[in-house]
Amino acid sequence: DSQKTYQVVVAATRDMGIGKNGKLPWKLPSDLKFFKEITTSTSDPTKKNAVIMGRKTWDSIPLQYRPLSGRLNVVLSRSTTCSVASSENVVTCGSIPSALELLASSPYSLEIDKVFVIGGGQILREAMNGTGCEAIHMTEIDANIDCDTFIPHVDLSVFRPWCSSLPLTENDIRYHFVSYVRVIWNMK
Ligand code: NDP
Repeated sequence: DSQKTYQVVVAATRDMGIGKNGKLPWKLPSDLKFFKEITTSTSDPTKKNAVIMGRKTWDSIPLQYRPLSGRLNVVLSRSTTCSVASSENVVTCGSIPSALELLASSPYSLEIDKVFVIGGGQILREAMNGTGCEAIHMTEIDANIDCDTFIPHVDLSVFRPWCSSLPLTENDIRYHFVSYVRVIWNMK
């Protein structure tokens, strides 16, 4: 079911580090701009995209920036008493499959264009090697920066690098964007 596929967006160091002390361990304004652009833009102007994130990533977003604007925010938590404030643009879900199921069912299926899984480490561990992952948009940070949260090394044999940007440097950190797309599908 094409509705149940998703794309991953993540920024990682050479060691696959993505976070430190519940925050991003770097300040890369153009990366945040890229993230906003890719997760917000739709091919159908009457629809919006969904972003799926772990509860700790939700907690890491400054109050004034959440929910992430113009996107349906889906927050994953195993706790039924999850304290994510409910608002029109936020739903909570108990697992990745149930989130994908929800988005593929009415009324969401009519309103939602693309689905992005945006972190953090716990969620990406499952999502990046999941059979529904159709693309990974990776900000490859060309540095070793101290992290306490990591993503798995992905089985890249099913992916191909599809496009890559020229390197950028911000705050003395060199990085570039690479998109990997799935070329081998093995879905039921
Ligand atoms: P996550 O953001 O992955 O959230 C973990 C929480 O999500 C768990 O405590 C649980 O919530 C819930 N959860 C996890 N697995 C599942 C599941 N299968 N089903 C339902 N709920 C689930 O936490 P991490 O600590 O791994 O990542 C956060 C770090 O990552 C931060 O430092 C953040 O800044 C960074 N980050 C970096 C990104 C990047 O691109 N560089 C992107 C996003 C985040 P509960 O406890 O409520 O049950």
